[in-house]
Amino acid sequence: MNLLLYGAPGSGKGTQANMLRTHFGIPHIATGDMLRAEIQAGTALGRQAQPILAAGQYVSDEIMIGIVRHRLGKADCAPGFIMDGFPRTVPQAEALDDLMHELGKRFDRVIYLKVPVEELLHRLSGRLVCPTCQRTYPPQTTACAADGSALVQREDDKPEAVRPRIEIYLDKTVPVLDHYRHERLVSEIDGRGTIDEISSQVLAAVNGKHSSPLMGKSPAAGRAQGALPEKPGDGAKTKTA
Ligand SMILES: [Zn+2]
Repeated sequence: MNLLLYGAPGSGKGTQANMLRTHFGIPHIATGDMLRAEIQAGTALGRQAQPILAAGQYVSDEIMIGIVRHRLGKADCAPGFIMDGFPRTVPQAEALDDLMHELGKRFDRVIYLKVPVEELLHRLSGRLVCPTCQRTYPPQTTACAADGSALVQREDDKPEAVRPRIEIYLDKTVPVLDHYRHERLVSEIDGRGTIDEISSQVLAAVNGKHSSPLMGKSPAAGRAQGALPEKPGDGAKTKTA
């Protein structure tokens, strides 16, 4: 089960990644974790990436694809994986397509957790984070349930920083989703509702029982839409042949 997972900050993507990992017993592959692992292991790629990250810059697509290649080649990815945070651009998606092809793998589904911007703003602007383990909590929580640390608000979760973060994410992600829409791989899941409701929709999509809003319109709805402007013939047959 090879999955790609997309969702703006605050969409609940981390929760769903965990659910999928547990449900299918496949690794959750997040870009940041992959980079850190390469650097810690002192691999050639890690040594290339380390100074770039230390300077606060993005590593090149070439290095990133090398790291992804390395990660997907590990034994735990044989039954599948959940990739999160990559690809972020269409060229990266194309490079990943080539890599998947080369590895004899294909994506089963691309999940996009869709939440309206206003809802994301609301969720993020009160969000608290544990400085020790990075788990996030709703407003007014006082301590981390896992380790008891006092929670703090991240600089980039403050209201003035939140909207640009969301907008940048959406601007970058829409073209990437379109890339996968061409292959009919994308399932848009409404990220509002309880965690259980969202989880069951995600699982239904992954198991192939879900059709995305784009592809799942009922025939009746499709006809109703198409019926209005389409009246070929009539006055148009003035063309002199
Ligand atoms: Zn914690």
